[in-house]
Amino acid sequence: LMQLSIPLNFIGFIYREIRQGLTDIEQMFALLEVEEEVKDRPGAVALKVTDGAIRFENVRFNYDPAREILKGISFEVPPGKSVAIVGPSGAGKSTISRLLFRFYDLTSGRITIDGQDISEVTQASVRAAIGIVPQDTVLFNDTIAYNVRYGRMDATDADVRRAAELAQVAGFIDVLPEGFDTMVGERGLKLSGGEKQRVAIARTILKAPPILILDEATSALDTHTEQEIQSALDLVSQERTTLTIAHRLSTIINADEIIVLKAGTIVERGTHKSLLDADGLYAEMWRMQREATEAEETLRRAREAD
Ligand code: ATP
Repeated sequence: LMQLSIPLNFIGFIYREIRQGLTDIEQMFALLEVEEEVKDRPGAVALKVTDGAIRFENVRFNYDPAREILKGISFEVPPGKSVAIVGPSGAGKSTISRLLFRFYDLTSGRITIDGQDISEVTQASVRAAIGIVPQDTVLFNDTIAYNVRYGRMDATDADVRRAAELAQVAGFIDVLPEGFDTMVGERGLKLSGGEKQRVAIARTILKAPPILILDEATSALDTHTEQEIQSALDLVSQERTTLTIAHRLSTIINADEIIVLKAGTIVERGTHKSLLDADGLYAEMWRMQREATEAEETLRRAREAD
């Protein structure tokens, strides 16, 4: 059985990778279309961020009226705390982050930041308050320095360097022939997924938003890179209200609250420990992920031994 289960896991892994690539393209088109759909109310004022408290109140949402995606979601992220959303593929996790960024309006319910309904304030002010470290960062065809500085255009060179150091990407940049002036993007140097993500983290460190959305990469990074990225993320989310859309459960063990979403409904919530004790869906996902990780490691060891 062990012999069979490794290839099956591996096929599942490849399938997820391909599917993710398609989803990202879909999302990109969705974003392009939708930005025009959501309009500011006449006379909308700017959001005033005081503490950075997020509240979802009985949020219902669909992309297409024939299929409801979020079926009455309520939760809070208190100022400076971290909440992670987990659940099976298609549960609606990324949709939650898109709604907080106000890419779409709700069917019913409310999302508030510091008590202000985000549909009643300007979109620009909502987006200015939120930093996103996305699954897959698209870099501009420009220098690395520009790509980091994009977080805050008036940042000095020293600020840019400091942000890159905190995001653990400065060491990589320094050994490039032109350092921070190296051109990246489609026509320049191609960076790996992990390197791009750390550039995005550096950008977010510069922006220093009161609210952070981490939309975690599904793509497999090697353990060392994953640890580096995780410590950079831990640093940037300290003292900030953080909503993490998590695919790897190992990264959210310390979240203040974990929300388990299934088919648009919250089915469990609690800390890592209380959810393991409850022995429900989260505990099952945790066991499955450990088995998958072990199988991948066995596979890697077998390959190395060849
Ligand atoms: P995953 O873990 O696979 O990333 P998820 O829980 O983040 O999944 P969402 O991306 O929020 O899931 O998607 C929830 C559902 O909404 C899915 O069934 C998806 O097909 C659908 N959906 C997502 N984006 C759109 C869109 N732009 N238009 C129509 N349906 C969409």
